[in-house]
Amino acid sequence: MRAHIRLGRIFGIEIGLHLSWFIIALLITFSLADQFHAFNSNWGEAVIWATAIGTSLLFFAAIIAHELSHAMVAKARHLPVRSITLFALGGVAQIEKEAGEASTEFFMGIAGPIMSALIGIVCLALAGALGWTPLELPRTPLLAMLMWLGYINISLAIFNLVPGFPLDGGRVLRGIIWWVTGDGMRATRIAARVGQVVAFAFIITGIVRFFMGAGFGGLWISFIGWFLLNAAGASRRQVEVSSQLRGVRAGDLIERECEVVSAHDNLQTFVDEHLLRTGNQCFLVRRWCATAGSRDLLRAELSCACCRCEACWRCSKGFLVSSCSEASRSETISC
Ligand SMILES: [Zn+2]
Repeated sequence: MRAHIRLGRIFGIEIGLHLSWFIIALLITFSLADQFHAFNSNWGEAVIWATAIGTSLLFFAAIIAHELSHAMVAKARHLPVRSITLFALGGVAQIEKEAGEASTEFFMGIAGPIMSALIGIVCLALAGALGWTPLELPRTPLLAMLMWLGYINISLAIFNLVPGFPLDGGRVLRGIIWWVTGDGMRATRIAARVGQVVAFAFIITGIVRFFMGAGFGGLWISFIGWFLLNAAGASRRQVEVSSQLRGVRAGDLIERECEVVSAHDNLQTFVDEHLLRTGNQCFLVRRWCATAGSRDLLRAELSCACCRCEACWRCSKGFLVSSCSEASRSETISC
């Protein structure tokens, strides 16, 4: 996910906002103002709105801290982290490589919920130290802020531990299955399957709650389920592709059987005798150099007839080649 607005860097990781973040930021701020009104409407409009905005911003700072903790584990395990982006459904740390071992996946997944739980506990402990008890409504705006941040961060930690891959809990589950079975691919398939079941459960719960009168809240749960369902499928495909490509070099994928055609061939001849006859998409075009000197080796200039073939490259200097496959095999051939 690309950020539309860049906020800066923390520990070398770029922090940004996706435009969809503004929707959720507004919704949360309005809902907080409503709640604080309900706690004590005597606080006054200005205080209530300032507290709502401050609480909302601290909540998103806590989400950045959650994502940073994933990112820090990734960096400690030498996985490159590009950025952290806040969007409508929370935050996402863009880690550019998949974990190479089970323990990395496990610790990377568990770090975020641990951070959220710690922030939540610290907020509730601070509120407690300032005289708040769980059985009463907060008496001051500061206590209201600390109480809300405490509960929301603990809820966030619990929600993220739901084993729906690619939620954190799904990653933790994948790490554990990987560790037990020693098979990363199998772990991905099982964790993604569990993730799809969890996503369906979210969708159905949301629909049932909607028809029972929960309104927008019900639809929101279904929407999260739909998002998780897509993400589970996409994550499974991504992990499968990257693990299948691990260790494969560009040279392994090169088309070696490119036919060599003469640059002096008429285009109709090329189409009739090479393009249509062979069905190939790649041809090396050989143009004899005027300065060709060696008798046994061909001095040729190669250029690309079709850019879809990785084996074709343009050579500005004359190359010594004895065959097309030699040209595509080795970069060390030179004049
Ligand atoms: Zn997380």
